[in-house]
Amino acid sequence: MSTDIRVNEARLWQSLMDMGAVGALPHGGCCRAALSREDKAGRDLFVRWCREAGCEVTFDQVGNIFARRVGRHPGRPSVATGSHLDTQPHGGKFDGIYGVLAGLEVVRALNDAAVTTEAPIDVIVWTNEEGVRFSPPLAGSSAFAGVAEVGKIHDSVTLDGTTVRQDLESTGYLGTERPGDRRLDCFVEAHIEQGPILESEGKTIGVVTRIQGIRWLKVGVTGMDSHAGTTPMNRRRDALLGASEMIVALNRIARDQDEWARLTVGRIEVEPNSGATIPGKGVFNCDLRHPEAATLDALDTRMRAAMHAIAAKSSLELDIEMLIDKPPVPFSGDLIDTVRAAVRHCGYASMDMLSGAGHDAMNVARVAPTAMIFVPCKDGLSHNEAESATPADLAAGAHVLLHTLLARATARRVARP
Ligand SMILES: [Zn+2]
Repeated sequence: MSTDIRVNEARLWQSLMDMGAVGALPHGGCCRAALSREDKAGRDLFVRWCREAGCEVTFDQVGNIFARRVGRHPGRPSVATGSHLDTQPHGGKFDGIYGVLAGLEVVRALNDAAVTTEAPIDVIVWTNEEGVRFSPPLAGSSAFAGVAEVGKIHDSVTLDGTTVRQDLESTGYLGTERPGDRRLDCFVEAHIEQGPILESEGKTIGVVTRIQGIRWLKVGVTGMDSHAGTTPMNRRRDALLGASEMIVALNRIARDQDEWARLTVGRIEVEPNSGATIPGKGVFNCDLRHPEAATLDALDTRMRAAMHAIAAKSSLELDIEMLIDKPPVPFSGDLIDTVRAAVRHCGYASMDMLSGAGHDAMNVARVAPTAMIFVPCKDGLSHNEAESATPADLAAGAHVLLHTLLARATARRVARP
């Protein structure tokens, strides 16, 4: 009965464009930092659409939004999908937003076809995936998976000097449900690839089998402030120079590892940051990723050793703090098979792949069977206003999502404990 249900490509595209108008930037992108005024406007629009589609909408204590399309058995764990609505400061219209609106399009398509599923379907918006305005990134899904405490998230201070709890209250998204209390039958996140592989391989769907591990190190390098004109070159303790040598060394270690290693230093602060003073302090963030846990450990060890060696030869003090440690996450084999079956049913060209970026799905995978569906994006570009994808590819991913969720939600399975 359900095999000919289709998503509506034009409707999905229009919703993406309408959401893209919220917090719109001059070059086609969006800026909706989590729990900002713009994010509230985006959330409000999504909630309105979901209510119009007949969903029950609730929030939890960290502002995660759950839009539920009820099924025949209200007590059954929900078949869940979703992603995030917040963006990078120069974000695009698709990163995260696509996964949320593809979920909404699945609900609308099921409504059009008047299908009642056995299990409820939840479309979820996870709070603060991007971590732009406050920490931690992936906050909502981390709380849901029990790897971040609600109290710590509430106390986190935003770039505007407010606390997250204040923002949740003022935006109207502070709910009472404890994150993680709701049982999920599964979670399937659709997302643009954010890389160039599907496009270059000519495939429409990426079946994601795992997410690579991510580690964030905060590296503090301490030397001594001194006069640029009077301090001889051999008597300096230049923290910025030491940090620079470290950054070059870290990049070399990652390049020498293998094709999968990723190392980025994208943020550095220097004190006193003044033209005529040798910098006494440098702090940078180091983002390290690899799909294998053992290699991640080995890279981490070599990088620390290299930084200590540079600090020692330059009389600098070194302080390394691990901010994030997310091990590689393999997705559920069972659910991946369901995604593959949906791809075959829909007749799209697909390939298995791993996710280079972190996603909310990596947290949810700790508490429920999880998978991801990737669609191509133009030139592999993301976290950029020019981020783009075709209406046909976006609809294809939503179509695979529809048939994956339908397979789980119509199955008369025994609920998992
Ligand atoms: Zn994303």
